[in-house]
Amino acid sequence: MTMIKSDIKSMLLSELETYFLSIGEPKFRAKQVFGWIHGGASRFDEMLNISKPLRQKLDAEFYINAPTLITLSTSQANETTKFLWQMHDSATIESVLMQYAYGNTVCISSQVGCAMGCAFCASAIGGLERNLNASEMLNQVFFSQKESGKKISNVVIMGIGEPLDNFENVIRFLKLINHPAGLKMSLRKVTISTCGIIENIDKLADYKIQSTLTVSLHAPDDETRSRLMPINRKYGVDRLLEACNRYFSKTGRRVSYEYSMIDGVNDTSAHAELLARKLKCSGSHVNIIPLSDVPERLLKGSSTEKIKAFLKILNHCNINATVRRSLGQDISASCGQLRVRHIEKGS
Ligand code: SAH
Repeated sequence: MTMIKSDIKSMLLSELETYFLSIGEPKFRAKQVFGWIHGGASRFDEMLNISKPLRQKLDAEFYINAPTLITLSTSQANETTKFLWQMHDSATIESVLMQYAYGNTVCISSQVGCAMGCAFCASAIGGLERNLNASEMLNQVFFSQKESGKKISNVVIMGIGEPLDNFENVIRFLKLINHPAGLKMSLRKVTISTCGIIENIDKLADYKIQSTLTVSLHAPDDETRSRLMPINRKYGVDRLLEACNRYFSKTGRRVSYEYSMIDGVNDTSAHAELLARKLKCSGSHVNIIPLSDVPERLLKGSSTEKIKAFLKILNHCNINATVRRSLGQDISASCGQLRVRHIEKGS
């Protein structure tokens, strides 16, 4: 009988402690092994303070997850690097490393594909294949750092997939990346982006973690939003905004909003005025991004004039809004684009 090995990099320290106690080893072994794994060990043989028989036992029961880099592309201005990774089951995912004045940020994927079906998003093409486990999310941070040689200070969970549709693994990832014996990243440096699964926004708020939550809003009214984002048919804009207010009152962290401007769809002055009215007292920040054209989708980004006019209305109504530079257009850096190209090529 072949034994299926377990993914040791996704295990919490407490789970490793339970394991070592169960095989008659002292509890401190867990901390030693956890330190090796989160310090970048790729083989149990490297763990020199662990006896050889124990290393062999660990090797028989667990694997240390690591992705294979398929492509790495850097934008002309050298400020964005996109990675396409292959997982052990040959599924592919993307991460994007962006250099900002305040530090290096990596945008990671949370699922292989996505079930949410947003009309403008390349990740939705082909639907959801599977969730990523915590080690696969963590590895995107570890290996982007290793491949680029650049220290990563911030993480945004804004790549392929819907993080709140993979809730337990995302929480596990947050616990691991924040762990004092691991990367020790403050959760204030981690942003979670969601299309707005309300039950899980409330569940996340109950954890009272200090991560920033950002909601992909893209329209202030149900008619437009439901056309763009099927999830809206379930909850509606007003219920979503109420959940965001609850998140703020429970965690003290203001939710921010993403608004991708789509030509002739969500970019009129009426949309801007309604958005301003709905966000009036929230003190929230709105990130405006021109939609990146996805050839598979028949939607186009708004013109610069329309974006400026939209921003002017929001600012006039005292809404804190900025237009985000869209980095890496030349390397298909928008959510899911590289993976779609890769699948199309059949490689
Ligand atoms: N599922 C999560 C995170 C992944 S999408 C979410 O919905 O927030 C990451 C962000 O990229 C979202 O704001 C999404 O709406 C946006 N996005 C997707 N495709 C885009 C495109 N073609 N142009 C601009 N933004 C896009």
